[in-house]
Amino acid sequence: MRVDSLLDILYPPKCALCGLFHSDSLCESCINEMIPYDPLTTAFPSHNLIQSLTNIFVYTGRAAQAIGLLKYSRITSLASPLSNLILNKLLEEGLYQNCIITAVPLHYKKNHSRGFNQSELLCCSLKEKKELNISFDIIKRTKDSLPKAANSVHTRKYESCNPFICSKKLNGEDILVIDDVYTTGYTSNMCAEALKKSGSGDVHILTFARS
Ligand SMILES: [Zn+2]
Repeated sequence: MRVDSLLDILYPPKCALCGLFHSDSLCESCINEMIPYDPLTTAFPSHNLIQSLTNIFVYTGRAAQAIGLLKYSRITSLASPLSNLILNKLLEEGLYQNCIITAVPLHYKKNHSRGFNQSELLCCSLKEKKELNISFDIIKRTKDSLPKAANSVHTRKYESCNPFICSKKLNGEDILVIDDVYTTGYTSNMCAEALKKSGSGDVHILTFARS
């Protein structure tokens, strides 16, 4: 008997969300409880920084729980089933076939303390399943997250500077930036600004969930 088969008998795999026994870390009934974001994709005029925004789920219930467990409880085994949900949607809708795919970068300090970038994990799992043009050396984050108390003059000045830079010259390539959660759109717009300044073509944003 193989060691992993034995481990499965001794410690049967469970869904990370509901705790019920399941062969994968995310079960079908938890997936079915996730609420699809409607509309899936919104297109914007060509003069906008972003040309389209795709959000797979509403950031609530099981979708929010899944992201929280991946990001804060470090249950990285969720990256693969979550990226499956992204990939299925991309294929179903025929979206972003000719884009270079990248992830919103974390500042190196946060990457170091968390140990991984959850958006990169989602992209890596995508690449394992389908040969996609994925690159993580396009955007760099030069500033850490904003402090919680965001009202001081100092913070407003800080906020006005783009925390992202593009680390290479682009030649009109269309870019799809993947992030785990979309909230205010600040991160997406700042990434798009950095990309456009460096000569990208269209910039598209895809997030797993939107609040
Ligand atoms: Zn479940």
